[in-house]
Amino acid sequence: MINILEYLPGKRKQTPSGWVSFNAVCCQHNGATADRRGRGGLKATEHGWSYHCFNCSYTASFVLGRQLTFKSRRLLGWMGVPENEIEMLNLESLRHRSIHGIIEDRQRAFNTLSAIEFGEPDDFPPYSEIVTPEFPLYWDYIRRRGVPEDFPVMTSIKTDGVHWTRPYVLIPFTYNNKVIGWTARFLDNKSPKYINHSQPGYVFGTDLQHSDWQYVVVTEGIFDALSIGGLAVMHNTVSDAQARLIRSLGKQVVVVPDQDQAGLELIDRAVELGWAVSIPNWPAHIKDVNDAVVELGRLETLLNIMQSRETSKIKIELQKRQLEKKIR
Ligand SMILES: [Zn+2]
Repeated sequence: MINILEYLPGKRKQTPSGWVSFNAVCCQHNGATADRRGRGGLKATEHGWSYHCFNCSYTASFVLGRQLTFKSRRLLGWMGVPENEIEMLNLESLRHRSIHGIIEDRQRAFNTLSAIEFGEPDDFPPYSEIVTPEFPLYWDYIRRRGVPEDFPVMTSIKTDGVHWTRPYVLIPFTYNNKVIGWTARFLDNKSPKYINHSQPGYVFGTDLQHSDWQYVVVTEGIFDALSIGGLAVMHNTVSDAQARLIRSLGKQVVVVPDQDQAGLELIDRAVELGWAVSIPNWPAHIKDVNDAVVELGRLETLLNIMQSRETSKIKIELQKRQLEKKIR
């Protein structure tokens, strides 16, 4: 493999922080005047290198196991690395590609193509703070619903007319660990139960997924998702945009409908999307995943879901008919 250091221009200086500085090779190709003050920098990284120009701001990097990026190819060209050497470097790099790298690359390409992005969220209500055991009304409620303790549920302690006077817990909606919206769940029995500040195409729970999980459990409600570590489509159907986002996770999908009239619609949509459906034979009073987790525990519920997982269209149809009878 080529040693990039051999292609750097003369008059190089090593800095204590590990950068090699030299006259940048990029600027004149980017509409800036050529660098004469050693403002190009290259630093070796764990499995490659990183280039930064402090004159025209060009950056490029290389990681063994990854495709050479367009920017890196250009940079190498400007350094005078022959075209065939660049191609060799790319091939050599791909030989070191790990399965993880391949999945990540596909993921990135997919996200870019499907433009999964969300805008700025509406602000949280005033005085929002994270629920701790000091606030037993809220703390006990979210524990009872099987929400993991490390999930930041919020509330507004001053419910004195600044905002709602009804007690509520607020669940932040995140995507790639950025807040993009929220829902408030009121704790009295008045209507509405929820106020949602979501965005079209959003699916709750993508940040609850672990990279080594093979399956993703798709549920209807926020508390279903929180209690099982699944996703919530927040409705009894899945929009096309939501389906794209769920597919972008690159996992096997198992849809668990609520065991009520509305849930039947979700089953049809899951079949249409070619996803597996799971309708565990829970006691009649267990209507959804959250009920099951509260009564049976998370592990037992997950086992029930996986055991009842069905991929055959005909078998799903049979299960659906049984569910129809059960809920009638
Ligand atoms: Zn430059």
